[in-house]
Amino acid sequence: MINVLIATGNAHKFHEIESIIDNYAGLNLVYLDRSFQVEIIENGRTYEENAKIKAEGYLKFLNDNTKLKSELSLDYIVSEDSGLEVECIGGEPGLFTARYAGENASDTENINKLLDTMRTKEDCIENRRAKFVCLACLYDIKMDKFRYLDGELNGLVSHEISGLNGFGYDPVFFVPELGKTVAQIDSSEKNKISHRAIAFKQVAEAIKER
Ligand code: IMP
Repeated sequence: MINVLIATGNAHKFHEIESIIDNYAGLNLVYLDRSFQVEIIENGRTYEENAKIKAEGYLKFLNDNTKLKSELSLDYIVSEDSGLEVECIGGEPGLFTARYAGENASDTENINKLLDTMRTKEDCIENRRAKFVCLACLYDIKMDKFRYLDGELNGLVSHEISGLNGFGYDPVFFVPELGKTVAQIDSSEKNKISHRAIAFKQVAEAIKER
């Protein structure tokens, strides 16, 4: 069994990643919920830097908690940084996607800020194009090596919220090929097409290659 720590405290992300790599037998995914209080200062200038900061934050946490580290007997730490980029507002919110409406903003506050910002921009009347980006960082503990894998999902920002599934900006991210927002499709469908699915299938392949 290959033990892989998914370095996130976001349960939504973990469950998505779990079902994306469900088919890869032999991978045991480990999740440490927010009660472990891993300190991460997300101040990178790129998704890649932020993903690395998260992996290193978890590595430091484990090195400071040697009992837990030896119990988990990890082979890999995998982190990810993701975001939404909207063309008509110059790629915003980008690196600030999680905190667009401020530190600890709720999903609803972030969505409202996005829709309000887009209402004030003339370019956004015609052009609603956007993409979700996921940058995964795969850290091989024994080899002390980092590797990066990415994925994108293209779509449009809708004018209104629709759907109850998913998290984050899913209720306003419309996928033209499906005629629905990501919050209107079920999780198994999302996990076939999402930015996270594209990145994490490559993560699983990279682990299996070793
Ligand atoms: P991170 O946790 O710093 O990577 O923040 C990424 C933010 O992007 C999340 O808090 C969400 O608001 C948003 N995001 C990332 N992936 C998704 C997704 O699959 N659906 C909706 N929003 C997402």
